[in-house]
Amino acid sequence: MSLTLSVDGARWRAHLRALAHATPGLVPVAKGNGYGFTIGRLARRTQWLLEQGFGTDTLAVGTYDELPPVAKRFHGDLLVLTPWRPFGAALEVDPALDDRVIHTVSRASDLEDLLERQPDARFVLERVTSMLRHGLSARELWSTAPIVAGHRSARLEGIALHLPLAQGSHLGEVTRLVNDVVAAGLDTTTVWVSHLTPGELADLRAAYPDFTIRPRIGTDLWLGDRAALRVTSTVLDAHPVERGDVFGYRGRTAPKSGHILVVSGGTAHGIGLEAPTGDSTIRARAATLARGGLDAVGFVRSPFSIDGKQRLFAEPPHMQASMLFLPHGPRVPEIGEEIDVRVRFTATAFDRVRVD
Ligand SMILES: *Cc1c(COP(=O)(O)O)cnc(C)c1O
Repeated sequence: MSLTLSVDGARWRAHLRALAHATPGLVPVAKGNGYGFTIGRLARRTQWLLEQGFGTDTLAVGTYDELPPVAKRFHGDLLVLTPWRPFGAALEVDPALDDRVIHTVSRASDLEDLLERQPDARFVLERVTSMLRHGLSARELWSTAPIVAGHRSARLEGIALHLPLAQGSHLGEVTRLVNDVVAAGLDTTTVWVSHLTPGELADLRAAYPDFTIRPRIGTDLWLGDRAALRVTSTVLDAHPVERGDVFGYRGRTAPKSGHILVVSGGTAHGIGLEAPTGDSTIRARAATLARGGLDAVGFVRSPFSIDGKQRLFAEPPHMQASMLFLPHGPRVPEIGEEIDVRVRFTATAFDRVRVD
């Protein structure tokens, strides 16, 4: 009845351990929908890695609002990736967490403001990268050094760099940015980085042996071994139709005989329309029309597949279910059968996560 994420637990845990082993200083990231697993589950897994000696003493969350669900399942430090601002959720952190939370500071004025409110705050200074999301310029980074020095109890935990997803090597940019950190004269040798490959991390550690590098990793950790994960939907109904039969919210007619399948999983789960099938050149569309292809009558590819073949939506997905059109010919699945679904894990709300 459910859209389910099934996890081969032994295989998944083996991957987590292998990645943690290969990545000294690893900072797991648990944010959003928890990469499909929920952030609470990822927090417990990070605690499990920590207890096995993998050194995952810090967990990163995306937002201040994500702190409460992870703080009770993971007992180490909590890095908040959204920069601190003098308003909103950043000012509502449970004081019991003050000693565990590491803020990200991306503006010099915010640093002054934060330290005025909490003189012993723990924080990282974010240096802007070519991604241009948040962060201090080299000049602004220099301007923070006297502010930090002027607050004796302030706890600077390092410099944060959020790099774009790899398009060639990041090393030139990272080297330039780390040199800015050295030039700024800040009293830290810890650099928190995102999206460096294992090779780039090794080169960075070799180039700056005095620095501690803390790679923040989400996708490659939690979703790095896709073969450990399977997403399924349940077939809830199968209605035989003849050409011309009416179905759906919009009173569409079946273009040929087959079945309307109703399967679990819809817009509420994040199931969306896929790109139109195939190639959309005029010649390709003419060929599809000549073959009588269903995409030619406006059916759109769905992420659901049956017996290894991706099937077409009979109409756009509904809230909790989707209607598919299965033309006459292939096997009609049984009611209750589970079929595969291709999803974006970071944008899918599963009804169930089953770890075996
Ligand atoms: C989400 C995020 C990460 C982790 O990204 P993945 O691609 O999931 O590994 C790292 N750093 C920052 C700042 C992020 O927002």
